[in-house]
Amino acid sequence: MTRWTMLADLERCVGCQTCTAACRHANATSPAVQWRKVLDIEAGAFPQVNRTFVPVGCQHCADPPCMHVCPSTATRQRPDGIVTIDYELCIGCAYCDVACPYQARFLIHEPHFAYGPAMQNEAARFDDHRIGVAQKCTFCVDRIDYGIEHGLTPGRDPLATPACVNACIADALVFGDVDDPYSNVSKLLREQRHFRMHAEVGTDPSFYYLYGKADGADDPAPTPAAASAAAFLQAQAGKVRTRGVEPWHQQHWNWKAAGNFLCGGAGAGLFAFVAFAAAGGAPALEGGLMALAVVAFGLFLLIFKIGRPLRFIYVLRQPQRSWMSREAWIAGAFFVTALAALWFDSRIDLIIAALLGLGFMLCQAMMFYASKGIPAWRQQTLVTLLLATGFAEGSGLFLIVAAFVPGLQAFALPVAAALVMLVAARHLAWRFYIGELEREGAPTQTHAEFRAFAPWFLILGLAVPLWLVAPGLVLPPFAPVLFALAGATTLAAGWAFKLILVTRAGFNQGFALSHTPVRGFGAAGPAVKPGWTLH
Ligand code: SF4
Ligand code: SF4
Repeated sequence: MTRWTMLADLERCVGCQTCTAACRHANATSPAVQWRKVLDIEAGAFPQVNRTFVPVGCQHCADPPCMHVCPSTATRQRPDGIVTIDYELCIGCAYCDVACPYQARFLIHEPHFAYGPAMQNEAARFDDHRIGVAQKCTFCVDRIDYGIEHGLTPGRDPLATPACVNACIADALVFGDVDDPYSNVSKLLREQRHFRMHAEVGTDPSFYYLYGKADGADDPAPTPAAASAAAFLQAQAGKVRTRGVEPWHQQHWNWKAAGNFLCGGAGAGLFAFVAFAAAGGAPALEGGLMALAVVAFGLFLLIFKIGRPLRFIYVLRQPQRSWMSREAWIAGAFFVTALAALWFDSRIDLIIAALLGLGFMLCQAMMFYASKGIPAWRQQTLVTLLLATGFAEGSGLFLIVAAFVPGLQAFALPVAAALVMLVAARHLAWRFYIGELEREGAPTQTHAEFRAFAPWFLILGLAVPLWLVAPGLVLPPFAPVLFALAGATTLAAGWAFKLILVTRAGFNQGFALSHTPVRGFGAAGPAVKPGWTLH
């Protein structure tokens, strides 16, 4: 087999950005995107400063989360390991962008040129197919294919080699087949110490960083002076000047995307409680229609968020892998079954629709979990928290609707009791979630957002609903109002949490080096993870 792989030698790279310029020239990319870029990471403090230039871009992961989440099958992996995007299939949902832990993907909605209007050469090379869809480094796949067709060897013959590798002035970038034990990359990996970025995320990237000559697999034992310098650098690792390389907030999932999660959880939750009440003889029509309208509104917002709305139907192409695809399929089944149940007043269909609604809620929670590029989203405990939140919001919305629909009032008391249990369960799930986030580590700003929100979640999401439900139990005339208010605060807390999760705490993984290169005294420098707090 062949697995095309790139190496970047951190001891050689001088940060000249020639590779960045060569990539731009070879692939005619817009000034708004950088398929290849070189980070400038500084570790330590004067006089013990360690500065490292780090080429980054798509790592052509062997287990690429971007491909797993893609609902349209636009993102695929070739047998030689190269991960590609079909611009004709991509719907521009940006799910791959939040799934990529390497910030390698770009999505622009309008043309950008270097000096405003397109210059002649820019106009000649402008590619409309790349607007509103995902794009990223391709390892110059067209050059590789051309080279192989013409009997050339990628990585050795320039015509068959990625442009950035050809252009590198310091021989810091190397390309070749890592499955061939005699290839240039295999030889270098045997000879030099190396690591892969974010190896802990499990993406198995095809991009290695070399950081020093290997005198054996491990770092050589440092001299006492070197050890003390290294210890100093290690102690300084969190105090580095790393402006520009810290995690930044994901750009593409805005309030409209959040709206889908707000409405999806609350609407599906409401439908479940309406079905429960209907099983006891309550009318289902008003509450059921309200639930469907809420879910539909969220999905409607989503259509306006994607880059290529006219291709929306392609979202259905990959249910075997993508939770977004599954969400779309289950949403369709949910609407059809629920409308039929309400039209024919069928209790059994209502139960089936409610189960489909819960499936829809689960898909939404799993969409976050599959977003491996956002530490706040990929936690397992978030799935439980989002399910608890959806149920709690559903009970809250039921109590609000029940205040206006007399036929539902008879069920307000058991639903209020359920709300009490659900807000308690939700708060417990929140504590587990925050605990997991602290254990796993997350960008410092993610922690800051949740720390600021925590007291509000406690007050609005737990204390106030309990305070409102309790007097409602002993003062029946006021119960509808008190229960509805408890429902409103429960709903508000859940919605605020999801809005913050998507639009304020969604900082990406950022960049990290598990070693910085040897600088004079023999031992590799410290690990660097800019913008992260590890507890
Ligand atoms: Fe490239 Fe990111 Fe996909 Fe990995 S997850 S193949 S780095 S786009
Ligand atoms: Fe990425 Fe969505 Fe396009 Fe797939 S359809 S490549 S997930 S933007």
